[in-house]
Amino acid sequence: MSDLFEKIVSLSKRRGFIFQSSEIYGGLSATYDYGPLGVELKRNVTQRWWNAMVHRHQNISGLDAAILMHPTTWKASGHVDAFSDPLIDDKTSKMRYRADQLIEGHIDRLRRKGKDEDADRVYQALVDALNAEDSAKGLYDVIMGEEIRSPDSGMFDWTEVRHFNLMFDTTVGPVSNPDNKIFLRPETAQGIFVNFHNVRETGRHQVPFGIAQIGKAFRNEIVARQFIFRMREFEQMEMQYFVKPGSQMEAYEQWREERMQWHLDNGIRASKLRWHEHEKLAHYADAAQDIQYEFPIGWQEVEGIHSRTDFDLKAHQEYSGKKMEYFDQQANEKYIPYVVETSVGLDRTILTLLCEAYREEELEGDSRTVMKFHPRLAPITVGILPLVKKGGMPEFAHKIENELKDHFNTFYDEKGAIGRRYRRMDEIGTPFCVTVDGDSLEDSTVTVRHRDSMQQDRIAADQLAGFLVNEISGWKAS
Ligand code: ATP
Repeated sequence: MSDLFEKIVSLSKRRGFIFQSSEIYGGLSATYDYGPLGVELKRNVTQRWWNAMVHRHQNISGLDAAILMHPTTWKASGHVDAFSDPLIDDKTSKMRYRADQLIEGHIDRLRRKGKDEDADRVYQALVDALNAEDSAKGLYDVIMGEEIRSPDSGMFDWTEVRHFNLMFDTTVGPVSNPDNKIFLRPETAQGIFVNFHNVRETGRHQVPFGIAQIGKAFRNEIVARQFIFRMREFEQMEMQYFVKPGSQMEAYEQWREERMQWHLDNGIRASKLRWHEHEKLAHYADAAQDIQYEFPIGWQEVEGIHSRTDFDLKAHQEYSGKKMEYFDQQANEKYIPYVVETSVGLDRTILTLLCEAYREEELEGDSRTVMKFHPRLAPITVGILPLVKKGGMPEFAHKIENELKDHFNTFYDEKGAIGRRYRRMDEIGTPFCVTVDGDSLEDSTVTVRHRDSMQQDRIAADQLAGFLVNEISGWKAS
């Protein structure tokens, strides 16, 4: 793990953003708990996503489907047969790796050494292996041919590559037998597909229309050592957009644009985002690209935009025996709609925000750690700080706090030196601090201290709310 990444993990724990799950028992790997500030950040992100996807599109409705679904769902979707990752073991260290990721790591190393030609050749070999009939053998051959060594032990002592299904299963009811085996959903999308008619009819939608949902998903990931980047229990924000066959590329382009803009509007710098074509299209897709962010661990996927054709609805029609067709009145024809999906990980979005926000700044004779979250997403928007704990200042500050509370998430703090309180607010990313001093009691003005520039403005207390709204909407990532 890089130094920067470790600092972000450590700050997340120290300041109450994210904790290891079941920590007192030594933790459960790849599962995490969101603490008081993490929860606020998460809520702000889900609210922004819901607003952007559901409230701002009249033809998109929300859904909250159950995590447990009829087991045939996962037969139909292809997950029982094909939702697997290729794994390989280092026989010396007994460490387990994803074969495709080992090769990707090797390609990255070649590029860093300036060996672009070799990197291109291995990349092509990876694409061929992933698309081969026997992809496990294909990947194994690349690892052997390139003599890729184990990242941890440095040894070249591998097992064969095997496929490993990522779905967690459990049983329903008191008797455990194979007939009542069910799965924890590995994606939220299937809950949307099986509700296609329910939402279309009750929402009185015509194609094109979309269904959006936010919810937990579970994957028994092979390699999960990268904090909340790869978890076994995580949250997705997915939207399936149903379109007339033939018009999917237009919708695909529209959603690519909207989704990239969403990340930019979260305050992510454009230089840290890029598009990445899939090396291998899933069996159901006719186009797929990922939005990647440059994490301290390298460029990695945050969101996928996939054109899924009519694969899912058709499969559910076949397995359930229920028609999944739509009658298009305008065209006077029946068809199974095509689907364009936008699928973003909530936890990975949180990780982009933490990585993007984290800054260490040298000041005159001092230094500070500051989280430069977009003010709309910051866990706390306004810190309310009486200069000292006497002389009527706390009462005045509480009055302001009460007035602002309906519009902003506020935090009242009267403990310690004012400079130290500012630093605490910087470290958790609070964009504004309102300080009440002796003059405030005389003339009803307060100081607004800006997190990013550390500059201060003197504002009439009754103008505060409007001032902050303007500042938030005019904020730019720096
Ligand atoms: P990866 O290649 O990283 O395993 P994926 O292509 O399997 O991801 P999708 O199935 O497209 O991912 O899932 C959509 C989104 O869900 C991803 O872009 C990611 O943000 C999120 N996601 C997927 N798996 C995990 C995980 N194990 N932990 C956290 N987020 C995840």
